[in-house]
Amino acid sequence: MATKKLKKTGLIFFPAFDWAISPTHPEREERLLYTQDQVFEEGILDFDNIYEYKPQIATAEDINRAHICVPDALSVVTESHLISAGGAITAARKVLTGEVDNAFALVRPPGHHAMLVVHGARGFCNVNIEAIMIEYIRSHYGHKRIAVVDTDCHHGDGTQDIYWNDPDTLCISLHQDGRTLYPGTGFINDFGGPNALGATINVPLPPETADEGYLTVIDRLVLPILDEFKPDIVINSAGQDNHYSDPLTNMWVSAQGYATLNARLAPDIAVLEGGYSIERALPYTNAGIILAMAGLDYSHVREPDYNPDKLRQHASVTRTIAEEIEQVLRLWSSRRNMKRNLVGDARCLRRNKNIYYDTDGIRERQTETVRICDDCGGTVTIESFASTGNNILAVILPSRCCPECRAEGEESYGRSKLGKYNHIYFQDRTTGIFLSK
Ligand SMILES: [Zn+2]
Ligand SMILES: [Zn+2]
Ligand SMILES: [Zn+2]
Repeated sequence: MATKKLKKTGLIFFPAFDWAISPTHPEREERLLYTQDQVFEEGILDFDNIYEYKPQIATAEDINRAHICVPDALSVVTESHLISAGGAITAARKVLTGEVDNAFALVRPPGHHAMLVVHGARGFCNVNIEAIMIEYIRSHYGHKRIAVVDTDCHHGDGTQDIYWNDPDTLCISLHQDGRTLYPGTGFINDFGGPNALGATINVPLPPETADEGYLTVIDRLVLPILDEFKPDIVINSAGQDNHYSDPLTNMWVSAQGYATLNARLAPDIAVLEGGYSIERALPYTNAGIILAMAGLDYSHVREPDYNPDKLRQHASVTRTIAEEIEQVLRLWSSRRNMKRNLVGDARCLRRNKNIYYDTDGIRERQTETVRICDDCGGTVTIESFASTGNNILAVILPSRCCPECRAEGEESYGRSKLGKYNHIYFQDRTTGIFLSK
């Protein structure tokens, strides 16, 4: 193998040994235990360019920059969630201060199914650790253009929801087709809100997509789009449930595939998401990713039962992926002309959502209204009614908010009254101000 440039890589481990949804739940304590053993066994921590850091603990203020939690931030999380989000923040801090070149937060519980409004847990997620990290970065290191590439096998629907109207945060999700897997969303035409068309990209992949398919999407779609978007920071939501042994999904990715994907994408920060093949996948996929991030040789990292003959991608899968790449690139290249057709001369655009919190059994009805604006992401107003009895209104000012959107948002929060709502929130993603009544 050719020698690559070594990088300083930061690792943040937080296995949350004392926290699980239930004793037999796939998102449980042992998830990172074998990984930690494998990392020690491989001697990964002995390399001079790999550094280990302890996670910090996220605060309510950190959560309130990214979410509207009902009734409040600390009531929807446990200490494990605060440390998991804090681990992602630590990874970001080490990279942004230049202490390391890149960092990987191997933390749990995961977060990419947690949406902007949080009434409870869905898809094993309470709060979105990537979004909390992104808003932390912006509040501490200035406004940044950020790309999130979600390679977890499930659609990153929470991250998409939080940044649906943000033209400066590109969310690309690669996932098993929603017609065959939870959460059942993430189709090609879901392309972002009216002021942020193209900042949401979805690539639903057919079941039995192998290393070859993922790498093709990275090379022919993700890297060219990143080249045009020009992010300051690339984040990888590095879920590992695409592995051929994962019990919840139907994909054929190997540890070599994960490591190669990481080497090509070269994210500044990787955050672990899903991955439920605790003994057969995670120790190897994570070791491969860490070595790839550090610019070290990963060619020897193989699962004991790895058999490439069994994982050869079918021609029909290859064909479907090629067609999808073409479709997405066509949409992407026409993104600047789509707004006029979509909004006409409307002053705002509305979307209705029905959200089910499968982990907590809560139903939510939501109406999101965004102000049409050519200068920023637009003020967003959300009305949300949950089966818990909590009815809320939230006014959200985008990052880099323009003066007109600011005036309209502040006015609308000012005149809002409790009555049909039991909570009203104001979140300013430009200044970090968070208010409620
Ligand atoms: Zn994904
Ligand atoms: Zn997943
Ligand atoms: Zn505006």
